[in-house]
Amino acid sequence: MADDKLERYRSKRDFDRTSEPSGRGGRKGRGKEPRFVIQKHAASSLHYDLRLEAGDVLKSWAVPKGPSTDPREKRLAVEVEDHPLDYADFEGAIGEGYGEGQVIVWDRGTYRNLTERDGEAVDVERAIADGHLSFWLEGEKLRGGYTLQRTRGGAKPQWLLIKRRDEGADARRNPVSSEPASVLSGRTVEDIASEEQ
Ligand code: MN
Repeated sequence: MADDKLERYRSKRDFDRTSEPSGRGGRKGRGKEPRFVIQKHAASSLHYDLRLEAGDVLKSWAVPKGPSTDPREKRLAVEVEDHPLDYADFEGAIGEGYGEGQVIVWDRGTYRNLTERDGEAVDVERAIADGHLSFWLEGEKLRGGYTLQRTRGGAKPQWLLIKRRDEGADARRNPVSSEPASVLSGRTVEDIASEEQ
């Protein structure tokens, strides 16, 4: 049940005070393929939240430097609490409290789980539990294979997010800096911050 998985998410937030979804709304639209979203979050420290639809929640990682299109770049990704499915469309300002700052939908699309072990497909929740996930993104900014590899467990598991070598790899691109705007609204986090004034 999503309600059990979202306990941590809800316990951190006061939904009378934040505009973030409580997760009671469920999934909007029923595509066949699971969705992914990357939200740029200008919190006390800027990061990019990678979220993959798995089961009835969004599995989530905070990536301080954001994703790279260069296979030589390993980006730290800290596993964070599961988020509700309707969080994938969330954009706006989070006020005083947990996660204070601005959020935009930096990229989104669908993904395919490519994880295999001994030639057998491994389902996404199993792959995350095992600490190794391989997936293909079909986003507006990002396309191609990525690997998430857990390097440290514990309360705040650390992973590395690495671009795989395929036609989506490009060491010259740096979409985190060259394509800062929301794919939903065209706004930047700075636009949202100035709307708040
Ligand atoms: Mn965040």
